[in-house]
Amino acid sequence: MSTSVLVINCGSSSIKYALVSERREDRIFGLAENLGSAEARIKGVSAGGAPLELSIPHADHEKALETILERLSHYNPQAIGHRVVHGGTLTKAELLTPEIIERIRAATPLAPLHNPAHLVGIDATMRLFPELPQVAVFDTAFHQTMPAHAYHYAVPKFLYTEYNVRRYGFHGTSHAYVSERGSELAGSFKQGGWLTAHLGNGSSTCAIWNGQSVDTSMGLTPLEGIVMGTRSGDVDPSLHSYLAANLGWDVYKIDKMLNKESGLLGLSNNLSNDMRTLIEASEQGNEDATLAIEVFCYRLAKSLAALSCGLPRIDGLFFTGGIGENSAYIREKTMSYLPHFGFNLSKEQNNNLKRGTEGRIDTGTGPQIWVIPTDEEGRIAKETEHVVDNEVNQATVKKSEADVAVA
Ligand code: ADP
Repeated sequence: MSTSVLVINCGSSSIKYALVSERREDRIFGLAENLGSAEARIKGVSAGGAPLELSIPHADHEKALETILERLSHYNPQAIGHRVVHGGTLTKAELLTPEIIERIRAATPLAPLHNPAHLVGIDATMRLFPELPQVAVFDTAFHQTMPAHAYHYAVPKFLYTEYNVRRYGFHGTSHAYVSERGSELAGSFKQGGWLTAHLGNGSSTCAIWNGQSVDTSMGLTPLEGIVMGTRSGDVDPSLHSYLAANLGWDVYKIDKMLNKESGLLGLSNNLSNDMRTLIEASEQGNEDATLAIEVFCYRLAKSLAALSCGLPRIDGLFFTGGIGENSAYIREKTMSYLPHFGFNLSKEQNNNLKRGTEGRIDTGTGPQIWVIPTDEEGRIAKETEHVVDNEVNQATVKKSEADVAVA
């Protein structure tokens, strides 16, 4: 990258930011949290790695962004890249124009928790920095290459044609970065068949053939798929009518339960949604924690096996996300359910891999297994720069065409 890009990820009461430039060591990043409350604050890392903690009582998104940008303005960012969870059927990162902002707004019913917060952030940065080019990078875009047989639900067709009911997939920025970086390290940049497992608070799997997503575990919303921190992942769709008939629950209550009270948290009987806590509790004999871990690993392996159907051959698997990058235990347990494809995990390499580093952890006799720390901010910055460069090139071409026409 030749420029520096400010990457912004707006949540409902928080803003993650990162100033991304050429060298990863120079990255300045942080989190504005508790926005709108007396405890609003910014925590992060300043230039040179110095810790930053700043109280901004009652600051809203705009005030927090103003503070962040004031602190970063002397680094002269050349563009802003916004992470946007749902881009509907947009297939790539886009320069923010009134039309693209409308399309993000139109996708709100598909991501009601995320897109409204992104729009607040976009609105604020557009007002504060009208001169800076701004780009939206969508979590869904990478999966727009899925074939029709992977993205259709088996429901009446009008729900797709008139109401956009289909599988979209999420975490695309991470799956794209990790598969690109991993296949590069494996010596087959963007070639072959790879599985990725992004395991954080939200988790998903993806099958990638020659650099393109061909299937993924999340669907219409980020609830479908494998077990997550507080999200159930796949359940029998009849659970809704069963709970309505027998407990009198409405869809909002069921939705909340499946999104916020399920997953590792629900399975562990409200012990925790945090995998580290569950592993510790399981080691001390907590049976609910042990069950939560077992279900997590089994369902993850099952998802990877299912997604392998999208690949003509399997060259390997990449683990990423907080759990995938840091837990040798979860990686080993998951691989124990996948002997069918010839995977051979090296226990030694798996256990000895230093936290937060890239590394290969198979014995060298089957498909490769790697740990690749994700870099969503870096990827968003790269895509932002790419979009801005393209726009500049197009503007130059148009200008020279206009000059020729006048001459
Ligand atoms: P997010 O999706 O919010 O970005 P992360 O990718 O940071 O989340 O992942 C958070 C998860 O990673 C938590 O469940 C946390 O317990 C887990 N995690 C982090 N370090 C470890 C570790 N050493 N062992 C097991 N789990 C870990």
